[in-house]
Amino acid sequence: MATGFMTHTLFFWHDTGTAALMLPADPMAGIQPDAHVESGHTKRRGYELLDVTGLLDTMHRVPARPARIGELLRVHTDAYVQRVADASARPRGGDAGDGFTPLGHGSAEIARLAAGGVLELVSAVASGNLTNGYALVRPPGHHATADTGMGFCVFNNGALAARHAQIQLGLRRVAIVDLDTHHGNGGQSIFWTDPNVLHVSIHEAGSFPPDSGWIEETGADAGEGYTINVPLPLGSGHAAWIYAMRQVVLPALHRFQPELIIVPIGYDGGCFEPLARQALVVDSYRQMASLLTRAADRLCDGRLVAISEGGYSSGMAPWCGVGFVEGLTGRNGNLSDPYAGITAGYAAAPMLPHQQDVIERAARLVPRIPATVSAG
Ligand SMILES: [Zn+2]
Repeated sequence: MATGFMTHTLFFWHDTGTAALMLPADPMAGIQPDAHVESGHTKRRGYELLDVTGLLDTMHRVPARPARIGELLRVHTDAYVQRVADASARPRGGDAGDGFTPLGHGSAEIARLAAGGVLELVSAVASGNLTNGYALVRPPGHHATADTGMGFCVFNNGALAARHAQIQLGLRRVAIVDLDTHHGNGGQSIFWTDPNVLHVSIHEAGSFPPDSGWIEETGADAGEGYTINVPLPLGSGHAAWIYAMRQVVLPALHRFQPELIIVPIGYDGGCFEPLARQALVVDSYRQMASLLTRAADRLCDGRLVAISEGGYSSGMAPWCGVGFVEGLTGRNGNLSDPYAGITAGYAAAPMLPHQQDVIERAARLVPRIPATVSAG
């Protein structure tokens, strides 16, 4: 069996306009016009690198299709879906909500194609005909809440995938493991009171959204205990992230016993990333994908779907994607990480005590996940 792969050329055409990093261009304010940091450039390079390394040939293509409005409404409000459609229909587009989520003309249709493609991938993986799945999409999704776009994210692809699995495919318990370096606030808010969706996020503390993703945020009502955050200090690297995987993510998955694992995966933890200050290397992503793939094999017949989120170093993020896909597929591409020598110091850097302390505090939350199925 092969890993499924879903992308579409239109994803690279979602137009975020001119900006400096994430600030809309404003020459009179000194914000020089440049490509928005979340343009199609980096992910197109990621796609090309999967091709050139031969990894694309090892995967099974799953075609995209537009999400139906009814599918979007499982997660998003009617008013929000309409707002995105209205802004996208304007000749010059608009914004999906927070002023930092630009929509080009036609972006609503592209966002629907991304979301629908993710749902097709989830169906294909759940059918048992694929080992697992990887979706390379734009716009990203994990910051989007039920009623607003946020942080470049329009429709919450991971949340839509979880609801699709439950409502359409009859899977009950879904785990979301958000490995983008910014907090997975959208999924957390959508499933805040839901005991059937475990939401675990490893991210840089206090990055984006600025006051979100703290250890104290653990869900509410019936969902109490099913949200776990690992807010890592600035400068956390390979050792800390792998420790967080082993001490928090894997035990949490084991306790929750998911029937499907969804992984919003951003490569903005890379050591050359412009929008965060973590220090991961390509091999970090390979190892995290391997750990999750093995957990999925043990827990849920391998059912795991990874969905691309952020990652803004056009040089390094595509290589982090190669590492992650190598972990998912269990195969090596025909080129090896050209940055390995340059990043060797980052790879070898030890975890520091204040990083370990955060991870161990988060690990103490795992036994609070109600063990309805298995105490493991
Ligand atoms: Zn991010």
